[in-house]
Amino acid sequence: MGTAMGIFLMESKVCSRCLVEKSTILFNKDGASRDGYTSMCKSCNRDNCRAHYRKNIKQHRLLARGYYLEHKEKRKAYAQANKEKIQFYLKKYRTANREYLREMARANKLMIQAKLRRKSNIDKNLEAEDVQLKLIDV
Ligand SMILES: [Zn+2]
Repeated sequence: MGTAMGIFLMESKVCSRCLVEKSTILFNKDGASRDGYTSMCKSCNRDNCRAHYRKNIKQHRLLARGYYLEHKEKRKAYAQANKEKIQFYLKKYRTANREYLREMARANKLMIQAKLRRKSNIDKNLEAEDVQLKLIDV
């Protein structure tokens, strides 16, 4: 009889994308759907969103840029009108998250360094290829 409760708690459904049966915990809630969950599991949904974003990256960037420009004045006005409030909250946030922010800054620095290193390696490789091409040319 011990299994009955387990079954009761562990509702599951089959994902429409990866076709794996998973616990409903791994699905996003969707009020519009019959069973109350999205048809795709969370990880498929994430993959799908990413793929869609990559495929349409130009439009996404244009949209974001448009939004940014459209609301520039509004943002500026808000910042001006709420200068002290914003500064107060920023200070509060920085104090409360000092360790986290320090950690993030450090991680970010490492990432940038790694990126630069990778870039300089690529440049070196390109130069080497260039030299080889020239040698072949001669
Ligand atoms: Zn899935």
